[in-house]
Amino acid sequence: MGTAEPQVASTRDVQQPQVTDGFHLVIDALKLNGIDTIFGLPGIPITDLTRKAQAAGLRVISFRHEQNAGYAASIAGFMTQKPGICLTVSAPGFLNGLTALANATTNCFPMILISGSSEREIVDLQQGDYEEMDQLAIAKPLCKAAFRVLHAEDIGVGIARAIRAAVSGRPGGVYLDLPAKLFPQTIDAEAGRKSLIKVVDPAPRQIPAQDAVQRALELLKSAKRPLIVLGKGAAYAQADEEIKSFIEKTGIPYLPMSMAKGLLPDTHPQCASAARSFVLPEADVVLLIGARLNWLLSHGKGKTWGGKSAKEWGGQKFVQVDISPQEADSNVRIDAPVVGDVGSCVSRLLAGIGSNWTKPPAEWLGAVAERKNKNIAKMAETLAKDPTPMNFHSALNVVRDIVKANPDAILVNEGANALDFTRSIVDMYQPRKRLDVGTWGVMGVGMGFSVAAAVVSGQPVIAVEGDSAFGFSGMEVETLCRYNLPVCVVILNNNGVYRGDEVNPTGGRDPAPLVFVKDARYEKLMEAFGGVGVHATTPAELREAMEQAIRSRKPTLINAVIDETAGTESGRITSLNPTAKKK
Ligand code: ADP
Repeated sequence: MGTAEPQVASTRDVQQPQVTDGFHLVIDALKLNGIDTIFGLPGIPITDLTRKAQAAGLRVISFRHEQNAGYAASIAGFMTQKPGICLTVSAPGFLNGLTALANATTNCFPMILISGSSEREIVDLQQGDYEEMDQLAIAKPLCKAAFRVLHAEDIGVGIARAIRAAVSGRPGGVYLDLPAKLFPQTIDAEAGRKSLIKVVDPAPRQIPAQDAVQRALELLKSAKRPLIVLGKGAAYAQADEEIKSFIEKTGIPYLPMSMAKGLLPDTHPQCASAARSFVLPEADVVLLIGARLNWLLSHGKGKTWGGKSAKEWGGQKFVQVDISPQEADSNVRIDAPVVGDVGSCVSRLLAGIGSNWTKPPAEWLGAVAERKNKNIAKMAETLAKDPTPMNFHSALNVVRDIVKANPDAILVNEGANALDFTRSIVDMYQPRKRLDVGTWGVMGVGMGFSVAAAVVSGQPVIAVEGDSAFGFSGMEVETLCRYNLPVCVVILNNNGVYRGDEVNPTGGRDPAPLVFVKDARYEKLMEAFGGVGVHATTPAELREAMEQAIRSRKPTLINAVIDETAGTESGRITSLNPTAKKK
């Protein structure tokens, strides 16, 4: 895009030259609001925007597919509480980014998808422009808010609105449509500078009403068998100290949802993860903090909760801390909703428990501890086995040790069995260190999340991937190598989706639909781009390769070959797949 480069300058430069343009206004508006990284994929009409952004000091991370850039932006948003920015080209690039935008909205991750778009006049008359698409209309139902900016002087407002929409209240995805014609528009540099908005207090605290706090405390005090469930909203809120104090002062057992693992170390004496199937049906009062009663919690009813049938409620009473007032009663009655941000709510609950709080009855704590210790001992036995070939347990026993030795490392995790086993076997020790498939159980987040986790934190990243899950974003190993990121990808390779031993029942030439190339050498993909590839067939080889990867901080892919008969259909969610093949 040929702009009159010499006459155009940053809005900060009010001397010479005198004009600025859409490119610089977008960049300056982002910088003014503390945004330092863009995840994206260059092309018409945003190629120059990526160049100029880099020249202006922003970090621009280019991907091989927009969906991965979008996932990266969304998880950067989760980790930092600043909206992650994903930049794409029009129509197809926009659509590729849209899956990630919808996923961000579903997961309450703040993200802004900025897409270049074609000429409005041609799009609206459907005259067949290059990459013609009414992107704003398509994005709207899939995100929290969608905006289009037509004039350079409105860029400041557009970006301010996008930021506020993404991070205030319940966070989510926002779409910002920037037509190609906007970028080269020029305006007076001083007017441009004045048009930009530094957003003041983008995510205002939401203080809960005192009577709501009181109601919640009374219910909790009346409980004989209380339980706390921490969700990823609690992790997002970065109210780690308040949450820890509240849990420890009340003495109530807690259950972390998968991305809330590590808010308190999974080895904490009050952690009830290993007794999940006992505490959910047995608890009488449950305090949900930043967790929804969606499918991941069996909608608060059914056998998981002690109900006699799938639809029946188990009789628990619920307290729900959430920033969204509409969340309460979405599945079962919430007896004490506490609406506000997690930090404000938990600190008020904490203040309200006072000094005469009595810990839950010893009988309850004893029963939880007994069940938990039994299950932990059972798991230890399974983990101690060393079968040939490796299975999920023996491989993940290694990952468990490596994460324990490197609690700063971020664990990215996706797959079916690879997800379920990792979640229950690998303990987390610090908040926001476990990033996974989230509310949708989406496949394909692996490499996008890994790139963002490494870029945002500077810490080593371990990505535990099913071989099927890895396939969705595998080409981004080139991105890992290009930016030389300290990411160690471990593929738990059992030759297929769920497992690799199915055969075509007709005996025909095609393999079974769930089966991949046998003994595929995924590690060579990483080697192709200059990273380290390792073929590991034993726990010892896996351990050595992981230790080396963490030490060297070089992009590494370990192809951990496991038994192709290991794994069950749909992992732990076979119940959602009524026709699942039973093995
Ligand atoms: P999980 O899958 O871990 O159970 P969910 O994504 O279902 O977690 O739930 C997260 C909840 O946290 C959402 O209902 C969201 O509104 C809420 N939430 C997000 N951020 C905050 C915050 N800062 N304060 C309070 N609630 C929040």
